[in-house]
Amino acid sequence: MSPAFDTLLVANRGEIACRVMRTARRMGLRTVAVYSDADVDARHVREADEAVRIGPAAAQSSYLDIHAVIAAAQRTGAGAVHPGYGFLSENGDFVAALAEAGITFVGPPASAIAAMGDKSAAKARMFDAGVPLVPGYHDADQDDALLEREAEHIGYPVLLKASAGGGGKGMRVVEFAEAFQAALDGCRRESRAAFGDDRMLIEKYLTQPRHVEVQVFCDTQGQGVYLFERDCSVQRRHQKVLEEAPAPGMTESLRREMGEAAVRAAREIGYVGAGTVEFLLDADGSFYFMEMNTRLQVEHPVTEMITGQDLVEWQLRVAMGEPLPLAQEDLSISGHSFEARLYAEDPAQDFLPATGTLQRFALDLDGAGLAATQVRLDSGVASGDRVSMHYDPMLAKLIVHGDDRQQALATLNRALAALDIQGVTTNRDFLQRLATHPAFAAAELDTRFIEHHHGDLFAPRHYSAEDYATAALVSLHQLGREQQSHSPWDRHDGFRLNSDNTIRIALSDPTRQDDDDALVTVEGRQSAPGEAWQLRVGDTTLAGSLHPIEGDAVAVTLDGHRRRLQARLVDGGEIVMVDPKRETRLFWRRLDAIDHGRQEAESTLTAPMHGTVVTLLVAPGERVEKGMALMVMEAMKMEHTLTAPADGQVESFHFQAGDTVGQGDVLLEFAAVEDSGE
Ligand code: ADP
Repeated sequence: MSPAFDTLLVANRGEIACRVMRTARRMGLRTVAVYSDADVDARHVREADEAVRIGPAAAQSSYLDIHAVIAAAQRTGAGAVHPGYGFLSENGDFVAALAEAGITFVGPPASAIAAMGDKSAAKARMFDAGVPLVPGYHDADQDDALLEREAEHIGYPVLLKASAGGGGKGMRVVEFAEAFQAALDGCRRESRAAFGDDRMLIEKYLTQPRHVEVQVFCDTQGQGVYLFERDCSVQRRHQKVLEEAPAPGMTESLRREMGEAAVRAAREIGYVGAGTVEFLLDADGSFYFMEMNTRLQVEHPVTEMITGQDLVEWQLRVAMGEPLPLAQEDLSISGHSFEARLYAEDPAQDFLPATGTLQRFALDLDGAGLAATQVRLDSGVASGDRVSMHYDPMLAKLIVHGDDRQQALATLNRALAALDIQGVTTNRDFLQRLATHPAFAAAELDTRFIEHHHGDLFAPRHYSAEDYATAALVSLHQLGREQQSHSPWDRHDGFRLNSDNTIRIALSDPTRQDDDDALVTVEGRQSAPGEAWQLRVGDTTLAGSLHPIEGDAVAVTLDGHRRRLQARLVDGGEIVMVDPKRETRLFWRRLDAIDHGRQEAESTLTAPMHGTVVTLLVAPGERVEKGMALMVMEAMKMEHTLTAPADGQVESFHFQAGDTVGQGDVLLEFAAVEDSGE
């Protein structure tokens, strides 16, 4: 059987499916996607040459259905299957079933997957191969009393791990002997539920280790190389969030030592293809084997960025039976790279996954002044896509490259700010908090980074007078634009740029609803069009102006300090402002225009915010008293009643129930009746 193939099926979805197909297309292969009912219109389906439905939304009956995937490959004549990561990527039965069907699996042989699938067995093999292990116990005897004696022998704190484990399940730190039995019972229960197996291993718990992993590659000719290391220490609940390559502070000799140990580990199990050997790196420079992932990792792009190699191309070439494209001495590191994982989730709510429709999902490189060579967005979604609750909430990965760590980090922060995401809650602000944290900038990394800096990373935002003034400028700019687009009613609108005018903007922080300080009013006054605004926020007055640059990029100047940021207005009255340090989200509402003469104030009524007209309460011509309800509007899921500003008569309405109105639109004409003095 020849391993050459011209059609590749990708047994995955999301960003990894898109990423694998991109390389396959470049190599001249036909691409086949598979999809569940939840993914009929997903991006990976749209980008594939062919796509086959493999079942309903539940992964168990679609992406994890071995027979459905193989049937799809047979139906489309795919000679090879790339599993991506997750799903069937480390499933030995899948590899065996493909072999039986005569289809090439882009990955290692089933025997290598099996060798690393069990943590205890893997540790025993690695010990034989001379790969350093964390001090611990990984034998077959699972007697409770024996395990407790072993824990005592290793010395507390210890880490209990499920032998069959993965994804942080069945894993618990035990601080002292008295807590051991309860922790053991808990881990066993968890492991039985998740993996149908309750065997445990025990490790010395390292208190400040870094997670440093080595990318290895082997071909079918018996050659093996390492493509250096990645530092993935920033984790939440044992899940990686920010990764980088190379690992900060790495010496040439340690790099070689770890690299060679990793290749030894791969050789020991007859490995083929891309693999990752994960190590814990202790503060004293000792490193210990943790596990081997027998597939392509989520964070592989940082390795591609520093080596200039396409790892998926390497995988496909190896799967075609070709030798490794480069030998060890031909590989070198250039610059520094970071990857940030963008999730649809709410960090403030314990990273609860979020769903919804992505109204916009784009990266505005030009607006941020970034070059395409510095930034790569591996994304499984596009504007208009729905984010469902069926699969992993990772939307995309933002990958950057710089000459050194500092430059790459600055680029990461700019690029995070240039992501235009609307409609779904994401962890972008959390990523910005991480990437701008002084300890991260100083590369003070360990696997409990998020825990250690919890206070800084989750503190509620406190906005300054400058922040409120900036948001007010964005709203004032918008009001000016709306006025221009509603020129027929210009003369009725209270908002006029051509005479002295004061406008009040109410700004509220949606995350601090119960807090009295959360509602701030900014008073803006402009003496003539084009002049700077005098903005009063509490006791502070600032001279401010805003100039659009390009796309959403604007320049805001406050008292002579000019800053560039991305500013967007979201339907429902939200302002999102992002700069390379953080994201600011405020709801805005125009309070009544004041200071434009009694006559005019009483002749029109304008919409205080964008919304819909619910009902009209009086008929044109009707006499009303000051304060009487005239109409009801709905905005931001709340009803607002508009009342008569004086005694008088409604002359006409400009809208009907059900109509949508913009902020500042004239709603009705009103004639005040002079007090007759009776
Ligand atoms: P899983 O397979 O469930 O992901 P791993 O064995 O890969 O579990 O460990 C996941 C993470 O747990 C590591 O990246 C590291 O942060 C932490 N960890 C694992 N073993 C130890 C240890 N012995 N001491 C301290 N932390 C550890």
